[in-house]
Amino acid sequence: MRRATSRNLFAVAFANALGVLAAALPAGALEAGATEPWQPADTFPLDAVERVVPTQGRMRCPPVTLVTYRGETLRYHSPVRVNPAFRDRLRRFEEVVRDVATQVYARAPKRIRHIGTFNCRRIARWPGLLSEHGLGNAIDVAGFEFGPLSRTAARQSPLPKALRRSFTVRMKDHWTAETGDAALHARFLRTLADRLIERRDIFRVLLGPAYPGHHDHFHFDCAPWRLVSVFVRGEGFWR
Ligand SMILES: [Zn+2]
Repeated sequence: MRRATSRNLFAVAFANALGVLAAALPAGALEAGATEPWQPADTFPLDAVERVVPTQGRMRCPPVTLVTYRGETLRYHSPVRVNPAFRDRLRRFEEVVRDVATQVYARAPKRIRHIGTFNCRRIARWPGLLSEHGLGNAIDVAGFEFGPLSRTAARQSPLPKALRRSFTVRMKDHWTAETGDAALHARFLRTLADRLIERRDIFRVLLGPAYPGHHDHFHFDCAPWRLVSVFVRGEGFWR
């Protein structure tokens, strides 16, 4: 995939089989910048679940299986409630986080800080659609907690002193940082986002600061369409 494509404000297309769903979305959802027809890398067990809901009043979430998951390669700061199929995507996500963190900080984070997984609700901007959170098919990630380097590793590390100790990387504090240690956190967050956008086998929807209401967290889900809105064009010193 061309890197420029992955950074489009919106890169949206809908599976042909989901015409009903596509019709429920506002025309604006098919934003300019959708330069490639979207084909899912694979099928996903929740693809066939109905997402269209009444725009007002009582709303029921489809009965889907939910499991409590604490994390395998990496831990979540509190257990998440997700569908088993999404748990499998989270396992792949943890491996990417570990790899990027190891490149940048010479270790994996101790914990992933999330601010929500299962939550039966509509999509705020499109009230005719069920949020993927309502299927246990989404996670909101706010940051990452790192423990200290071992004493031996710290002695040999080229990292700034403060980053050899424990620290936390937060979307809300570090996404746009341009100086000091915080700039390294920005690099970590942005490299992570790039990798996840490139990995078509993990998440289909990736939202971040470019998307309204997401200045302080990433939203990742596995909806039956693709929407990428993470990087604000021209923002960030190293882009
Ligand atoms: Zn979310």
